[in-house]
Amino acid sequence: MTDWLTRDQRSRNMAAIRSTGTSTERRLHAALKLLFPRRKIIEDADLPGRPDCYLPGMRLAIFADGCFWHGCPTHGRIPEDNRDYWQPKLERNAVRDRGAILELRRMGIRPLRIWDHELRPAAIDGALNRIRKEAQRPMLQGRRRPRHRSPHLGAGDKPGPR
Ligand SMILES: [Zn+2]
Repeated sequence: MTDWLTRDQRSRNMAAIRSTGTSTERRLHAALKLLFPRRKIIEDADLPGRPDCYLPGMRLAIFADGCFWHGCPTHGRIPEDNRDYWQPKLERNAVRDRGAILELRRMGIRPLRIWDHELRPAAIDGALNRIRKEAQRPMLQGRRRPRHRSPHLGAGDKPGPR
């Protein structure tokens, strides 16, 4: 692979994705720069759900989702204290997330959700592989969608919080 980043940029990005002091959003961005050095990456894109990173050339929208707020299957749980407050709030988040995913798909954009825990330095290689794999899948064809598809999340999606 041709390296389009300078050695210096590359090592700075490597350091960023390995550092515990970097926010998950920054780590995601640094990881994408390493994977796709020539691609334009828009942060906090003005798209449904406000993806943390959007790669317009690949029509790939990536979310760095907090395990608590977005109900990660491993770490997402409703706090026992103040359950009446948290439960509807977290459920609303989940509904909003699903709506954004569907809306993006309708626009011909491929959404990819990466959990916070996947962006931890020790786990980041798995996240990179997941992003790479998604980027290699054939792109959706514009707004067209097969009619037989039900409006559910595809098999590759993370299950909801419940
Ligand atoms: Zn998690």
